[in-house]
Amino acid sequence: MEPNKKEQLTELEVWRNQFRPYLDVFLDAYCITDPSGSVVEYNLAFTELIGESHRKIHKIGSFLKLLSFEGGVNPIQSVITEKAPVRLDEVKASSKAHPDLTLIIGGVPIYGRQMALVGALFTIRNVTAEHSLLLKYDEKKRDSVTDGLTGLFNKRFMEENISRSIKISIREQKPVSLVIGDIDFFKKVNDTYGHPAGDYVLKLVGNTLKTMLRDTDFAARFGGEEFVVLLANCPESGALIFAERFRKHIESTLFIFEGKRIPITISQGTSTFFERWKEGLNVDELKANLIHDADVALYEAKSSGRNRVCQAKKSKS
Ligand code: GH3
Ligand code: MG
Ligand code: MG
Repeated sequence: MEPNKKEQLTELEVWRNQFRPYLDVFLDAYCITDPSGSVVEYNLAFTELIGESHRKIHKIGSFLKLLSFEGGVNPIQSVITEKAPVRLDEVKASSKAHPDLTLIIGGVPIYGRQMALVGALFTIRNVTAEHSLLLKYDEKKRDSVTDGLTGLFNKRFMEENISRSIKISIREQKPVSLVIGDIDFFKKVNDTYGHPAGDYVLKLVGNTLKTMLRDTDFAARFGGEEFVVLLANCPESGALIFAERFRKHIESTLFIFEGKRIPITISQGTSTFFERWKEGLNVDELKANLIHDADVALYEAKSSGRNRVCQAKKSKS
């Protein structure tokens, strides 16, 4: 026979007295509810989490009124109605004292004699601070690899990727190509239209580049008005096709800042690495060569008239 309400409370009291020594050492907040979800016992950490006085906690009673959960989370439903232990990670919740909590909740049903459910125990760990620290860490991590203005990768991260791609290229015997692009007469853009106009151009060139990449390609702002694209599994002919497409794209893009049209073109140099592994190959050297070769080709594109693509002479690296 199911115990009546009074018997439930008595049995819950017996359970609490039996386990009190264990409950007393909990560092996290905990509370015990009756089968209706009303809080009957809790520790100081719980009071601090809720931000209500003892009197008010008793008056409000309902666990779900003391803590509101986002996204349809209902620990009472799981533990008491479904009689299942729960572990809920990174639950969003709010209490009177804290409008923006991130919690880890554990809950177990409490059984009395004859295995009748007489209540539930909930432990509540406040991980709001850790969670926001984690978000900040993710943000920092992203900032450390990207260029703030364009959202492309930064030079340092690109250099790491070039090394990695060269290793993959040797291992898989697939060519890897590099394209370095530099906006033509960019100083004049700044001088004529102002620095914010220059920044606008850099952003738009960056965005245009993003739309042209495959999943395995990497694009970075290498500094100033220089962009570098790393094309995985791409031979010389592919690098030329990519760079030509990018050049035409930029040439035909309308750059309009504060009502004024700014004509923009870009010069590019490409280089390609494709070699078998042999003793003495040094990845740092190969990377430096790949960048240097594309740079020389870029210089050639500049000196032969700009708004064009030049390829590095057959890679000797
Ligand atoms: P070239 O065709 O030979 O490349 O000529 P250029 O004028 O583009 O080359 P130069 O290296 O003389 O000038 C680069 C300019 O880029 C100078 C600098 O003021 C500008 N610049 C560098 N970084 C930024 C930036 O973040 N924002 C803006 N607006 N300008 C930048
Ligand atoms: Mg330039
Ligand atoms: Mg430059």
